[in-house]
Amino acid sequence: GMNFKGLLKRNWLLIATIVAVLLGISLGVLVREYASLSHLHKQYFGFPGEILMRMLKLVILPLIISSMITGVAALDSEVSGKIGLRAVIYYFSTTIIAVILGIILVMTIKPGVSQTAEHIDRAGTTPNITTVDTLLDLLRNMFPENLVQACFQQVRSHNITKEYKIVGRYSDGINVLGLIVFCVAFGLVIGKMGERGRILLEFFDALNEATMKLVQIIMCYMPIGILFLIAAKIIEVEDWEIFKKMGLYMVTVLSGLAIHATICLPLIFFVIVRKNPYTFTLGMAQALVTALMISSSSATLPVTFRCAEENNRIDKRITRFVLPVGATINMDGTALYEAVAAIFIAQLNDYALDVGQIVTISITATVASIGAAGVPNAGLVTMVIVLTAVGLPASDVTLIVAVDWLLDRFRTMINVLGDAYGAGIVQKLSKLELERMDLTSDVDVANP
Ligand code: ASP
Repeated sequence: GMNFKGLLKRNWLLIATIVAVLLGISLGVLVREYASLSHLHKQYFGFPGEILMRMLKLVILPLIISSMITGVAALDSEVSGKIGLRAVIYYFSTTIIAVILGIILVMTIKPGVSQTAEHIDRAGTTPNITTVDTLLDLLRNMFPENLVQACFQQVRSHNITKEYKIVGRYSDGINVLGLIVFCVAFGLVIGKMGERGRILLEFFDALNEATMKLVQIIMCYMPIGILFLIAAKIIEVEDWEIFKKMGLYMVTVLSGLAIHATICLPLIFFVIVRKNPYTFTLGMAQALVTALMISSSSATLPVTFRCAEENNRIDKRITRFVLPVGATINMDGTALYEAVAAIFIAQLNDYALDVGQIVTISITATVASIGAAGVPNAGLVTMVIVLTAVGLPASDVTLIVAVDWLLDRFRTMINVLGDAYGAGIVQKLSKLELERMDLTSDVDVANP
């Protein structure tokens, strides 16, 4: 057995992070109660958290590039094709399951039936996007016209400002999808080059190792950053009343996310991997808390990597491949949320949905979750395509904006959990190929 001291020592970062969350919440509540800060001072308050976000975002670029290129190049193209296919099947089926779960819950709980849309204040303006637009944007992003620009590209999608205004078509960030597509292609080519390719492979492998060391250092700062991030958020929220009005809606979303995370995903994991899924979830705890605090799958990615590789011992050849792609396109939490939110809005409007429309909601919610970037509030924005597809006013997305900051955190957490489970499952399914490679290859890039 492990003694208490050992447990403390091994999990100090996680413990410190959780303590930071609790301290941050208390601090936020205290400051709210007893100090009246000006807008400017509120901003200063969140500064240490802002620095954490900046550092996490900073390592995304070298991390994605080095992990994807080495991930693909280390496998031969046949094996990477198979692994890719398995990952995509996993992403797709779990997303659909999440959507169906959400639909069942929202149709039984009926959070919008007892009230009407008029009772909830609308905020901001309406964006105007369609399913076609979203799909085209997705494809455009896959083929960046300039590699350097893709690294600081304004991602083509809508954005929501602090005042809940939905504006513009661009938000700052990295075109992760575009970089992934490029790196897969580049990695495949390097893998095929033989001796000459080896030098590039070793370069990117070393880059990956160095980046992960940086991540390790950044993670030591994490508790401090998180403390101020959550405290600042609590100080800043203006409308707590809305939580009463939207209580049942939030309960629906949160219970759906909880069921997906504690029953659906673990069940699939157990059936395929035959290991305790909850131990696996615990291994991801640091990444889950991070996602909860920063509402971004992309910015959580460095932590997801560490948890999956260090705690859950997933093969690097799998994580390097499955995690970055998952963080960008596999969003179970977002899909579930979109379905629930769309039907909730229909209920508010007294708008009866037929079976065809419900099927439409499931499909568009899936598309919307794939199209959403792994950044805060992205799912709320792609929500518009779900509403438009069934003839609900797109402007009604503004009804749910005020509580999105909270729901966003939880769905992001489930998005990250889904990616991690995916890595575990794909590893198990690809065991044969991985073992065969271990026997035939003379160098082991993944585990030097
Ligand atoms: N914030 C979510 C994520 O990064 C996306 C969303 O808004 O649903 O995974």
